[in-house]
Formats: sequence, structure tokens, C-alpha cells
Amino acid sequence: MQGIWFSELQTPGLALSIKLKKTLHHEKTPYQDLAVVETESYGRMLLLDNIIQTTVGDEFFYHEMIAHVPLNTHPNPRTALVIGGGDGGVIREIIKHPSIEKATLVEIDARVVANAREYLPEIACGLDDARVEIRFEDGIEHVRQMENTYDVIIVDSTDPIGPAVGLFSTEFYRNVYRALKPDGLFVAQTESPLFNARLIRRIQRDLAEIFPIARLYLTTVPTYPGGLWSFSLGSKEYDPLEVDWKKAPQLVTRFYTPAIHQAAFALPPFVQEILEKRDEEEF
Ligand code: SAM
Repeated sequence: MQGIWFSELQTPGLALSIKLKKTLHHEKTPYQDLAVVETESYGRMLLLDNIIQTTVGDEFFYHEMIAHVPLNTHPNPRTALVIGGGDGGVIREIIKHPSIEKATLVEIDARVVANAREYLPEIACGLDDARVEIRFEDGIEHVRQMENTYDVIIVDSTDPIGPAVGLFSTEFYRNVYRALKPDGLFVAQTESPLFNARLIRRIQRDLAEIFPIARLYLTTVPTYPGGLWSFSLGSKEYDPLEVDWKKAPQLVTRFYTPAIHQAAFALPPFVQEILEKRDEEEF
């Protein structure tokens, strides 16, 4: 292969390789190794600890699906919290909803936001909206301190390693429940159904114990391991499968539509099995 290639070792036996045009920026932040590179196929790409976070070419699959599914499930979302998400992609989608009065971004690493503003303006472009508040703090602590505050909470975290480990814990989900208003709901990115089956099953079981409504939905993200990605949703009142589409806002999107919203909850048998198997059974 000619030229310079970046390979992400996505599992011990699987790598995704992307041809690079150039490295735009590289630094060690207090939390992680951060790089922004220009790729041939997907445009600019953000890497944290050598793990692909987002690319300009395929970010919309992920950001639209993590934001519009919960926001359209809630009939009148006014306050939203994003944990992680320092690239700004989820915020950009949230502020498309006319009912939103305040969107709070809680990102642990200020350097992610600074670099997204500089190198990924297509993704970070919503961060200066007057409704957006950015706080550089740990999302786990933030949620611990909040009560009855948010209509929608979205966890756009890195993988469950380093500072993100606690964002996948049972205690965190209980605190999310408390931080939500009495009819609030929450969504978290919950990794690959192909490679993180046990994690997904444990999270779904936690959510089913904590929330009256717990659901799993899927999307495609071409640069994430396996290309198929999961989101876990916990809701106090509104069911994502019973949206009144006549009242939903008209959104300009590239992937998300009401039909795709509905279809994302149709789980293939191998994913259904993940939810039903016992822990000791092999995958
Ligand atoms: N969509 C991406 C993915 O799934 O690969 C995640 C993108 S976003 C850049 C993830 C962000 O979560 C990172 O910027 C990281 O600094 C932030 N993060 C990790 N742990 C956190 C925590 N405990 N509180 C707040 N932000 C956190």
C-alpha cells in the first residue's frame, strides 16, 4: 500500500486502515493523546488515544441518531445535557430543535473542544449558539449533583476506558435518573453489538431496573468497529416507538428520518439474543 496509512486496532484481531493526507495537529492533553488528521476517504478525523472519535465524512450517522431519537421522543424538550461530545456534533443536532431553550455540554477535556473549533468547524459549528453552555468538568460528578433538571440527557462518551469508565456504571444510571425531570429520558452510546455484547446486555438490564422504559436501537457508523453501533435508551414516560410524528419538528438531516427512527428499534435476531442470553453463555 503506497502512502501513509493510519490503522486503528479495533479488536485484537481486526484493524481499520485509512489513508492519510496529512497530520494537522497532535498533542498530549491532561486526559489523552489527541490528533486531528486529514484522510483521503472521510476528510478530517479526530483521534483520542489512537481511537477514531469522529470523521467529517461519516459523523452524521452517529450524531443525528444519538440526538434526534431522544429529542423527538420527548414531546417538548427544553433542556438537554450532553456528557462528553466535545467535538460539538451532538450539540449541533440538538439546537436544530426549536423547543430547546438550553443545551449544556459537560466535557472533561477542554482541548477536545478547542481543537474541534479550530479543525472541525463543520462539526463544532453549534457551540457558539446562545442556548449552549459549555462546562469543562467530569460528567459523572455533574450528574451526581443534579436533580430534576434535564428533559433529555445524552451520553456521547469515549469507549469505557479511562475517565469514561464510570459513564457505563449502574450508579451513574441511577444518578442520571435523578438528574432527569419526572418525564425525562436519556440515551448513551453503548458500543458494538458484534464486539461488546456482554456490556450491552448488562446496560440494558440496568436500565430495565431503573427506568420504566428501556430500549436498544442501532445505527451504522462506517468507521466504528464492525460498522454497526448501539444506543441504549432509558425513559421515565415517553416511548420512542410511540412518537406523534405530526407534532415533531421538520429537521434538515442527512441520515435520520421518522422511518429510520422507527426502524432503528427493529433488532436482528443476533442482537435480540444478546439481550436474552445469560451471562455465563458464550457468544
Ligand atoms: N462519538 C465518539 C465515539 O463514540 O467514539 C465520542 C466522541 S466525544 C469526542 C467523547 C468525549 O468524551 C471525549 O472528548 C472525552 O474527553 C469525553 N469524556 C470522556 N470521559 C468523560 C467524563 N467522565 N466526563 C465528561 N466527558 C468525558
